[in-house]
Amino acid sequence: MRTTVLNPESRQAALREMANGPELDVLVIGGGVTGAGVALDAVTRGLRTGIVEAQDWAGGTSRWSSKLVHGGLRYLQQLDFKLVTEALHERERLLYTLAPHLVKPVPFLYPILHRVWERPYVTAGIGLYDTLAHVGSKVASMPFHRHLSERGVQKAFPSIKPGAMVGAVKYWDGRVDDARLVLTLIRTATGYGALAASRTKVTGLIKNADDAVVGARVTDLETGDSFEIRARKVIAATGVWTEETQDMADTDGGLKVLASKGIHIVVPRERIKGEVGLILQTEKSVLFVIPWEHYWIIGTTDTPYEQDISAPVATAADIDYVIEHANVVLDDPLTREDVIGSFAGLRPLLQPGVKDGTETASTKVSREHTVQKWFPA
Ligand SMILES: Cc1cc2nc3c(=O)[nH]c(=O)nc-3n(C[C@H](O)[C@H](O)[C@H](O)COP(=O)(O)OP(=O)(O)OC[C@H]3O[C@@H](n4cnc5c(N)ncnc54)[C@H](O)[C@@H]3O)c2cc1C
Repeated sequence: MRTTVLNPESRQAALREMANGPELDVLVIGGGVTGAGVALDAVTRGLRTGIVEAQDWAGGTSRWSSKLVHGGLRYLQQLDFKLVTEALHERERLLYTLAPHLVKPVPFLYPILHRVWERPYVTAGIGLYDTLAHVGSKVASMPFHRHLSERGVQKAFPSIKPGAMVGAVKYWDGRVDDARLVLTLIRTATGYGALAASRTKVTGLIKNADDAVVGARVTDLETGDSFEIRARKVIAATGVWTEETQDMADTDGGLKVLASKGIHIVVPRERIKGEVGLILQTEKSVLFVIPWEHYWIIGTTDTPYEQDISAPVATAADIDYVIEHANVVLDDPLTREDVIGSFAGLRPLLQPGVKDGTETASTKVSREHTVQKWFPA
């Protein structure tokens, strides 16, 4: 492997090589987690690979997530077994093989609110979650869930309001520093020889006489210089910017991306006493209370977003929503004064029904990925 240093010199060298060197096999547009993963995949197949990112690495959605590596319990409620199984197996790979230094197990409490009937129902769901993770898994799996009484809940999470739950099921998921994961993917890709440049924006796509895309026009946002990068294949991994990239290709690619805003608040760790995370049901979705070093990260929301996609922010109403739902179970209610930070991101959700003109609520839109070919090979 070569050096994985990412600095102004390595960036300049990569830009020079992409502009003046031999044609790339693959040029990836977008340095979020998707583009970084695509670049690493391509370069480790022996392809001459370049990746450009308009902002900093992970400058789009990939740094503003809930930072969970999870199978998605709520997708199990939507009976999306395929998605959950695939995500759980990826979780195992990240935890135990690919990035054990970045992805850590974290226990969560799933509250039981009603006596008698609810515990068997929750046990069936979380038991299935654990089973899907273990079946076919080739690596060490997370511990199986455990049952906690009301007293057990108080011990694990002393800040729970007495009577807020009659017990809980403790289960495990993973958490990750999302931006660091992207950086690690980019650095690993450069170690295998990928050419990587942040602050480099694609402003147009180059086509040949057969209308096939054969490269991109880019602008170095540090110097203002514009130039062309030639590539046999151009892959756009531009998240909520997908429709913009699609327009550059001048194709009816047909992808319609619904930007769904999610926000989190950050609260000092000492403000809430608890050793585990919480997953709380809200009327629309779920709310996580996640232990994060010296802080708690609490969120999220899921609302369609139609403003400027480059800078989503948490509104006062978003913050109040999160506080209100966390306070349902906290004995010492949070106020706005307890919030030391907030962040917002936009989920790039493929909007189904675009062909038949119907719309789907963002909470109901599938989280499956899609690969769409804009031009014939
Ligand atoms: C609130 C919230 C919570 C979430 N929680 C989780 C979670 O806990 N676990 C999980 O797995 N997922 C979670 N997600 C989903 C996850 O964050 C996204 O699926 C993922 O980050 C999308 O990555 P991406 O690379 O496709 O998009 P992005 O990260 O947005 O990357 C696209 C990149 O393309 C760049 N770009 C766009 N146009 C151009 C151009 N013309 N030239 C160059 N570059 C360009 C952008 O600058 C951007 O950096 C969450 C999302 C949100 C919003």
